[in-house]
Amino acid sequence: MSWNFNLPVKILFGRNRALEVVDLTKPLGDGLLICDPFLVDGPARQLIAVSAGRIAEVFSSVSPNPSVEEVDACCDAIRRLDAKYLIAMGGGSVMDVAKAASVIIFGDDRTRAYHTGGKALPQKRLPVFAIPTTAGTGSEVTSVSVLTDRELGVKAPMGSPLFNMDTAIVDPVLTLSVPPRVTASTGLDVLAHAIEGYWSVHHQPICDATAMYATKLVFQNLMRVYNNPQDIDGRERMCEASLLAGIAFSHPKTTGSHACSYPLTNVYGMPHGEACAFTLDAFIRINADARVLELARYSGFDSVDAMADAVYDLKRRTGMKLTLADAGIKTEDVPELVKASMHPNMLNNPVAMDAEAIERLYRGLQ
Ligand code: NAD
Repeated sequence: MSWNFNLPVKILFGRNRALEVVDLTKPLGDGLLICDPFLVDGPARQLIAVSAGRIAEVFSSVSPNPSVEEVDACCDAIRRLDAKYLIAMGGGSVMDVAKAASVIIFGDDRTRAYHTGGKALPQKRLPVFAIPTTAGTGSEVTSVSVLTDRELGVKAPMGSPLFNMDTAIVDPVLTLSVPPRVTASTGLDVLAHAIEGYWSVHHQPICDATAMYATKLVFQNLMRVYNNPQDIDGRERMCEASLLAGIAFSHPKTTGSHACSYPLTNVYGMPHGEACAFTLDAFIRINADARVLELARYSGFDSVDAMADAVYDLKRRTGMKLTLADAGIKTEDVPELVKASMHPNMLNNPVAMDAEAIERLYRGLQ
């Protein structure tokens, strides 16, 4: 086995640490805060108040599954302010907009040209300080930005080593306000990252180790925080899981469930984590021979099927969609869905998936 590992992100983890970003950015001058609209009147206001005028503007026009136009608008805000750095406080959507804008700001084109147009990304970037507010994407430790081009109907990741954050401050207190449905969906995204990073054809030992621990943490803690959102110990464990699962897939990349998730979100409007989980238990059974028994046993199950059943159970107990009918997918739409699921990430799946195999998988979800 031959592999490289490089994680250039400085990580600060702990309760009530978010405001440390103010001291960290002091030497850099004026910055732009990019944040989730939900946070504008809470943690964002607090951050601005203690920044002594250095964080003067907030960009919060970011929607779930952010669009290429939102990155363009963010670049406009950076230019207006002549910002020297970016602080991204929010879920994966906010962090992905910040990463993309931090690089595209140095280009001479709009985001679409880099996202789907094949244009090479600029080779410079503004520093980005990430403060995740969901236990979900792990975007704070990946070099990927997932954007949607609604006009072209394409949701796809864009990658560059320059998308690595400078610093990630993971403060579990910020996740206490995440509502149960979002807690479930983002938590299942964590599980998908860990499991897919583990069995990806590009898996490697450091990522395997973080994947195994993150998987166990999700099985132990997701229902706990779903049932009791104010359980700070459980929230802290889920933040650890999210960070570790981000590392788990950062190099191996995601596989079948993520490939399927893109059209499930794009066409059928499923939130990202729920879309990944929609096929996760099916892929656990399909990929059973990819060392999955070892992962299942480490996570407390005596068989691969028991772990797949546990994923299905997590989805059922948290009200996630389980069948094609739940998701509003008509039988006659399956061939089109299969075609759209043939995303490049499918090539990372340990079991080769052709159109027939994907169709079989979807038809099993009737
Ligand atoms: P999100 O950022 O879209 O947020 C989901 C919802 O939760 C939003 O309505 C938001 O307002 C709300 N929210 C966020 N933080 C909150 C808080 N603390 N309290 C209450 N509400 C809060 O969701 P996400 O799952 O974190 O991110 C999903 C996006 O990230 C998708 O576009 C997905 O494709 C992408 N993603 C990126 C990577 C990566 O490595 N870059 C990895 C996985 C997923």
